[in-house]
This record gives sequence, C-alpha cells and structure tokens, in this order.
Amino acid sequence: METQLAILGGGPGGYAAAFLAADLGMQVTVVDVEPTLGGVCLLRGCIPSKALLHVAKAMGEVQHLSDWGVSFSPPKIDPQALRARKNQVVATLTNGLGQLSKKRQVRVVRARATFENSQTLRLEPVGNQPLEDDRLTFGHCILATGSSPTRLKALEPPSARVMDSTAALDLPDIPETLLVIGGGYIGLEMGTVYAALGSRVSVVEMTDGLLPGADRDLVKPLHKRLERDFEAIWLNTKVTSLAEKKNAIEVSMEGPEGAKTQRFSRVLVAVGRRPNSAGLGLENTKVQIDAKGFVTVDRQQRTADPRIFAIGDVAGEPMLAHKAAHEGKVAVEVLAGHAATFEPRAIPAVVFTDPEIAWAGLTETEAKRQGRRIETAVFPWAASGRAQSVGRPEGLTKWIIDSETERVVGCGIVGVGAGDLIGEAVVAIEFGAHLRDLTDSIHPHPTLCETLGFAAEVYFGTATDLYRPRKKA
Ligand code: NAD
Repeated sequence: METQLAILGGGPGGYAAAFLAADLGMQVTVVDVEPTLGGVCLLRGCIPSKALLHVAKAMGEVQHLSDWGVSFSPPKIDPQALRARKNQVVATLTNGLGQLSKKRQVRVVRARATFENSQTLRLEPVGNQPLEDDRLTFGHCILATGSSPTRLKALEPPSARVMDSTAALDLPDIPETLLVIGGGYIGLEMGTVYAALGSRVSVVEMTDGLLPGADRDLVKPLHKRLERDFEAIWLNTKVTSLAEKKNAIEVSMEGPEGAKTQRFSRVLVAVGRRPNSAGLGLENTKVQIDAKGFVTVDRQQRTADPRIFAIGDVAGEPMLAHKAAHEGKVAVEVLAGHAATFEPRAIPAVVFTDPEIAWAGLTETEAKRQGRRIETAVFPWAASGRAQSVGRPEGLTKWIIDSETERVVGCGIVGVGAGDLIGEAVVAIEFGAHLRDLTDSIHPHPTLCETLGFAAEVYFGTATDLYRPRKKA
C-alpha cells in the first residue's frame, strides 16, 4: 500500500490532522490498533469520564436541593444501565468519526504498525482481520501515538481490584471503599464519580497538595468540598506496597504521621501518563526521543526525520486532547506549505471535578517562579448574583496581568462551569487583551461569565459589587 500522508494513531490529534489533510486535498491513511477512530480520549478517557461526571454532578445537584426545601428519596443506581448509556455516548461519537472519514475518503487501516525505515510502516494484523498489505509506504508520516498510564512496580499486584483509568471507567462495580493513588486530574475526576455513586473514596497524594500544577487559591475550594465528599485526603504520603487479601487490597502508606496499613475494596492508580514512543521501530528512522520518552519536535511539529512529524501526548506536555488537535492541524498546514507554527499564548486546562478548575496562559505560580512582574485581580464569586442564586458561591475568577502593559497573560477559575468560562480567557490572552478591553466588553447579567469582566474591574478598584479600592503604587 502507498499513501501520501500516513497518520499513526487515530486519537483527537491523529483524526483532526487526517481530516484537515483530506480537506486540503491530500491522500491520507490512518493506522490504529483500535477498531474505530477516537483514541484514548474518546474510547477510554475524556468522553466516557465526562458522561459519568455528568451523572455525578446531577446527583450532587439533586442532593443540594434539600437546602432549598426540595427533597428526593435516595437514588437507585443500576450500574449496568449506567455503563450502557456511557458506552452509547462513545458509540455515537465513534460512528460519527467513521462516517466523517468515509465522506472525506480517509483510509483507516486497523493494524499494529512499526517503522521499517523513514518511508515504510510494517503492518501486523490485529485480531483476525486480514490486511490488504503488510507494508505502507508514505511520503510523510505524522506520529500521533498518544500516551499510556504510568505503571509503578510497587503498585502492581496481579489483581483486578487494582485499576488504571481504563478499568475504572469500565465501572466493574461500585466498591464499598476506593483508594485513589494520585491526586491529579484522573484521580480527582474518577474519585468524584465513585464518591457520587456511593463509594467511600480516599486519596493519597505524594506532594503537599492536590493538583500540583494548579495555583493553590484555585485548588482550595475544591479541596474543601472534597474533604466533605471523600472519606480522607492524605497529602505528603507515599504508598509503599499493595497486597491482595480476601476481597480487599491491603495498602501500606508512609506519611507525616508515620506508616499505616489499611484495606480497600478497590484501588485506582492514577500517577501520571507516559508517551507511547517505545516499540515503534523509531530507531529505524532519524526521530529523536528525549530522556522522558517524548519525541523531540520543533515548533512546526517536525521531528529530526524530515519525513516524520509528531503531535499530541507523544510529542510533549501538556497531555491534552485540544493541544494534540491543534498541533495536528499545524503539522498538516506545514505539509501543505502554509506558514504555520505551534506557539499558543494559552493552552487551557480543565479539571472536571465539582467545582471545576480551569486555567489558561501563565499561572500565578509559574509567573512568580519566572520572576516575571505581574499583578493579579481576583473576583470572589460570593459577590456574584448568579453564583449565589445557584447556591455555589465558593468560586473565584482571577486574571494574571503583565504589570507594565496591563495586558492579560493568564487566567484561573474555580467554580461550577469553570471549564466553559475559560474559553473567553483563552481568546482574551491570545488577542493580547488589555484589562480595559475586558471592562469595556458588556457581559450578560446575571451569568458566571460576568465574573471575568468583574475581575478586570477589581484591578481598577471599580467593581460595582465589591468594595476593593485600588492600592496606590
Ligand atoms: P497527573 O499528573 O494529573 O496526576 C498524577 C498525580 O499523582 C500527581 O499529583 C502526582 O504528584 C501524584 N503521584 C505520582 N506518583 C505518586 C505516588 N507514587 N503516590 C502518590 N501520588 C503520586 O496524572 P493523571 O491524573 O494520571 O493524568 C494523566 C494526564 O492525563 C494528565 O496530566 C492530563 O494531561 C491528562 N488528563 C486530563 C484530563 C482533563 O483534561 N480533564 C483528565 C484526565 C487526564
């Protein structure tokens, strides 16, 4: 088989690149081991977890209505129906991708591929599906193989009770107790799902705070709520061993209060992800890999091999689907001869917990680490009419501002729907908005997106609903 452009990996990076390349007139072949396009994000990541988090959020909201004088009887959960509905969401979207690839005449080959050289992929069949050919020669290739959960030897007894994110999303049952190892994105999102379904969830995090990459003021309201919803949150604590016992996993931990041992019905290990760059035959090409296993790329997504580009999780942090898709489009535009580069001012990050945490551009912590002259302007949601009327005043909206230019360089939000609100901040940062642009833009009332305008007013000491005079320099 021959193709003008081969794309190895059919996740959000790979299929976005494939579809754009086809739209621009290229002849494209996507190779993936899975029977459908979608990658980790759609098949066993972002989408199924958001379907389950939707249920968790609805259950939380119904519970919270008792504060307003409306009570319901405790929910009855049918895990089989829940699983089926989640799987239906995934099937609808993967079918859609199948149709879109057919319409665009993108060839999708199910196979395990390895590089024989810089122009040829060797293909091995997956399952019993025969292959038309065992080689695919290409003009160019985009490597979009993604990442896999990090495995730690000490955390891996051969037990189905010890799950990674894929197993946890399959929802094998609703365990009485669940220990989540790792207080990052996956641990907190999946912990939220299981806690809503009725498990008693504990989290063990080795650093001194949940979500180590986020600003502490954003994490605080989430931490407070999780202290209520979870059984325990152990910080500065390391798991030293796991052992299988009858109907339980015995976990040994070491933390500030010394060593302890406790049993849990199930354990979820969510201690990060690593790039899928091994076992691909990259040594038969000129592609270079760094010490962490990421493929080295330039700002046009070129690897050291002139015929091979790389995008998404395999090409570096942050490991986020929207960053992968954007990089995929840059790579294709470069191949099409356009002057494209990947140099975003703001890559948004969203943790879909309750409340959600979202940030974009420079974080306050990172700005301080860089010694950059910045100011912050914070609007607490307790002063927002909308936040009060939905009973969720614990949020905050914060701009990070360049002290000299008064332009926004970063934004952080914690609160319900923060993930949707961050979109405005991304546009503002990308456009190099001045704080005046934000105060001059009329935001709809009463909404939570108003808080972005209000936070800009806080900078000038003129927020209507907050008395916070501007400090004299
Ligand atoms: P993560 O990097 O977000 O969190 C891992 C956490 O585990 C960290 O807080 C780390 O300090 C902790 N940790 C590491 N080793 C540990 C140990 N031995 N004991 C206790 N704690 C330990 O990683 P993740 O949650 O596995 O997610 C992986 C990646 O997937 C994320 O970085 C993110 O890019 C992506 N993801 C994104 C979303 C989203 O966008 N909403 C959701 C899920 C995953």
